[in-house]
Parts: sequence; structure tokens; C-alpha cells
Amino acid sequence: MKRVIVRQSSVHGKGVFAVRPLEAGERVLQYKGEIVSWRNAVRRHQREGIEGHTFLFGLSDGSVIDGSRGGNSARWLNHSCTPNCETVEDNGRIFIDTLRAIEPGEELFIEYFLVTDGPLDDGVRTQYVCRCASSVCRQSLLADAG
Ligand SMILES: [Zn+2]
Repeated sequence: MKRVIVRQSSVHGKGVFAVRPLEAGERVLQYKGEIVSWRNAVRRHQREGIEGHTFLFGLSDGSVIDGSRGGNSARWLNHSCTPNCETVEDNGRIFIDTLRAIEPGEELFIEYFLVTDGPLDDGVRTQYVCRCASSVCRQSLLADAG
């Protein structure tokens, strides 16, 4: 049975929502997409006018999964500074596991910690501002916003 659906989110664009109760530690999705270098992914997104890098998921070896190519519903996961899901890297693949029990209808969130290789000017910072409204909000989706 399907665990999640994608629909409009009140936080940002589309979001991923539970359609049945999920247990803590349940593996919900694999983050699918094309594996490319960060540089190629950014170049492609600039060429195609895709805003931001929120479809990009960084792997520990420096490459990224580009969810805009061959991706699945995991690319619609929104960021929260108090997420209810975590991302687990396993053999070069990324999985989304729940951190706690989740009720049907709740939106699933992960923490992005995006890393950029370009200079962090104000335009970049603005593009990645966080609006999750958590009391411990870092105000940014970037790992190195400082
Ligand atoms: Zn936040």
C-alpha cells in the first residue's frame, strides 16, 4: 500500500504527505534521480532556468542526485529545521526514514543542509532562506550559511 502522496503544501510548492500511519524508523522512499557531478547539475539547472538547487541531493563523495531527472516523489520533500524524517546514505543511494511516528495527513520534512560551491552572495542567501517557522529555525537551507 502507498505510504505517501504528493500534493500542494502550505510551506512551499508541493509537499509529501503520509496517507497512512507511519512508524518511527520506517523507510518511506528512496531519493531517485540521475547521479551527476555538482558542477554539471548546477550548469544544467542554470541552462534550463530551474530555480535553486532544491532538487539536488548531495552525496558524501561530492556527486549529487538530480531529482529533476528520473526523480520520484522524494524530490518534493520540503525542508524543516525540525524534520520528522532523516536521509540515510546506503551504498551510494539515499533513503528517507521517519524519525518518529507520523499521522496520516502530516507533511514529511527532511533537513537539507545544502552545500554550494559558488560564492555566497546575498542573492544566493535569499534564494535559500528557510521559512519553516520552527522555534529553532536556522533561517537558511544552506549548511554553511554561518
Ligand atoms: Zn527553518
